[in-house]
Amino acid sequence: MEVARRLAGICSTLSTTKRSVSHYYEDIFVVIKVESQLYRLPAALLRKRSRVFADLFSLPRENSVRHIEGLSDEHPIVLEGHSCCDFDCLLDFLFGSIHDDTDALNSSAERPSVSFLISVLKMCAVFDIHDGTSYAIAQLETHPLLDLATKLQICHHYNIAPWLAPAFRVLVSRPIQTLTETDIAKVPSKVLYTFLQVKHEIATHRLSLASVSPPAVNDLSCKAPLTCAHHWEVAWRDGPAEMLRHPDIYYTGRDILAQLESADLPQVCNLCRDLSVDNVKDSGALFLEDRFVEDRIIELINWLGDQ
Ligand SMILES: [Zn+2]
Repeated sequence: MEVARRLAGICSTLSTTKRSVSHYYEDIFVVIKVESQLYRLPAALLRKRSRVFADLFSLPRENSVRHIEGLSDEHPIVLEGHSCCDFDCLLDFLFGSIHDDTDALNSSAERPSVSFLISVLKMCAVFDIHDGTSYAIAQLETHPLLDLATKLQICHHYNIAPWLAPAFRVLVSRPIQTLTETDIAKVPSKVLYTFLQVKHEIATHRLSLASVSPPAVNDLSCKAPLTCAHHWEVAWRDGPAEMLRHPDIYYTGRDILAQLESADLPQVCNLCRDLSVDNVKDSGALFLEDRFVEDRIIELINWLGDQ
């Protein structure tokens, strides 16, 4: 009686047991060779993560020289043109690393290195692993150790349009002489050319603003319009013009306007002074640099879109 009851229990358990649709993997391993290194990897998991691997493993094998490929160390699938360092990073991303657990990949406290993320980005682009590409781009975008030149290089190489405008604005904010030879080698030539163009535009504009003062605007009730106009020109030459030409400090248009608004100009009457400052503000001349940069960014976005 007891035996019959136990048998019934086992039968009942078997009838309700089923294989997971998503995670019941076949036990086929493939041997892959990258450079001189061999990897033995679960085919089902690679197929699940990468369309390229899925296609590779689904190629017909029967009656071809490929029928034993990937089945042993002696006959691995050879992945040409990749480095085992990059491939290690891809596998660490896909399956976790023995050095740091997978939680580290998601932890902001233990951010993966820039070189690891670039390898993941490179490999995920090759093997068509979208979540890996998105992960690497998101991590690199705000990575404190990713230098600007490399960021622009990656932006171009992987066509990451959202990075372009912010990175180009930062580039333009830097003096030309701070770019190293290594930086120049990395920044895409079109970006570098556009950077030099806009720097030239800005420099020319600043020099012309420094050499010719904006016109004084006299109030109708001013008792000494010529005196006000003369001292406005002198004040411009001694103030904003010096700031625009300063060899060491880069004053922005906003810095110059703020200085002008707070400056004490005792020989210009208050009415003429206010009108003249407003005229500078309204002309937009001090903010043209931003316009130069934004116009060039539109050009660059179009260029990147055409790549
Ligand atoms: Zn006046």
